[in-house]
Amino acid sequence: MRTASEASESVRGRRLCPGCGGSFQPCRENQQHCRPSCRQKHYERRKGLLPSLPWDAPPAGPGTFRDRLAAYFRQRPNVWIDGLELGKVGGGYAWRTRKSECCRQLGMRIVNRQRKVGRVTVSEYRYEAEG
Ligand SMILES: [Zn+2]
Repeated sequence: MRTASEASESVRGRRLCPGCGGSFQPCRENQQHCRPSCRQKHYERRKGLLPSLPWDAPPAGPGTFRDRLAAYFRQRPNVWIDGLELGKVGGGYAWRTRKSECCRQLGMRIVNRQRKVGRVTVSEYRYEAEG
């Protein structure tokens, strides 16, 4: 039989919430999730009701997409590249932020132009390499 002090001992350590992926301090011995909504989320994910969430992705260091984008531009100096293509490299919709980071943090000069192809406006970007 467990004593009250043993029970509180096992509660003391922090646990990893399988719902949100964060660590939390349980207040009950059998508490597995930090919030009821996390318990629900965890349950739904196990049943495949929710798409995989960001914390399922392998940890990406800060600047990973920025560096990928920067490398992509550097391999294509002075070439116009379709914005859609850059979205694939630089992480979907956030790639414009990554592009700004290339300019601000890496000092790269990247220019934009828009042109009409039929009825579609194509947005293109070019890395202005020195020399
Ligand atoms: Zn949680």
